[in-house]
Amino acid sequence: MFLVKGKKYNAQVRCHSCDSDKSKYIACIGGHDYFICVVCGLIFSDNLSEESFDAMYKHKNETEQELIERFQSKLIVSSKRARYLFGHVTANLNLKVLDVGCGEGSFLFALKEYGIDAYGVESNMIQARYGIAKHQLNILNSYYDKASFERSTFDVITFNRVLEHIPDVHKTLETARYHLKDGGFLFIDVPTYWNKNKVFMKNQWGGGHLRLYDINSLKYLLVERHSFELIHAIPFVDFYGNYKPGCACLVKNKTVRKDSDRLVKKISPFKAFRIKLSIFLGNPVLRVKKILIKLLPQHIIERLKKLR
Ligand SMILES: [Zn+2]
Repeated sequence: MFLVKGKKYNAQVRCHSCDSDKSKYIACIGGHDYFICVVCGLIFSDNLSEESFDAMYKHKNETEQELIERFQSKLIVSSKRARYLFGHVTANLNLKVLDVGCGEGSFLFALKEYGIDAYGVESNMIQARYGIAKHQLNILNSYYDKASFERSTFDVITFNRVLEHIPDVHKTLETARYHLKDGGFLFIDVPTYWNKNKVFMKNQWGGGHLRLYDINSLKYLLVERHSFELIHAIPFVDFYGNYKPGCACLVKNKTVRKDSDRLVKKISPFKAFRIKLSIFLGNPVLRVKKILIKLLPQHIIERLKKLR
């Protein structure tokens, strides 16, 4: 048993991605402790209960006006995302695409422009019903699990800012593999903690985010841990602009799995230290750097600069 600011942990805290117990406590935000894994670089919360997931998403109640407004605002981002993924598709390939956690279905709506056979799955009944009734979208109102669809059904599966909310990430990715055709593609877009200018983004905490990735920890999860083939890694996606930075990976489903326990390069203790200091001071890294320059010996400042 060990303590983090008076809270008792009966077991060692394990990283959600690589299961390593080598993590460092960085902050308590919204009543939950956050840790950074020093093996794969994932920032993760101690909160993985299904009850809090249900309270936040499944039972969320919104008025029709709120749904309309959200659909419209999300459609801008969804259209950019659809263009990014399918804008180059000229021939009618009869692609069958699944969007997991599709909400009201703005991404499915945007996919119509590309002649795609689009499906969504959404646990929130009000959001799912809105997409079905108002926009005639194919939305299954359910949790996402193997029973949701037949095996090898989809050419592409997308998780658009969804994976960071799901308690059991490994089960979810195995479910996606089950529903993907052999050679099908998985696209995952998640929030990240540095923006393009290497400023630590405090607004990425909370909002039900159980994890914050960077491109290395996302690649580790998909390629090393789940044996997908990396097609394209995007360190910064700009669908939302620099205020809500994300990173994304496009990976391919392979039938032959490789068993690899090779880990990505371990993150340096300095990265964990920078994140902790950014949270503690509540200021962008640029200001943190100025403080560091006054406090730290020159050789450590040089090492921190190299990390950028
Ligand atoms: Zn890890």
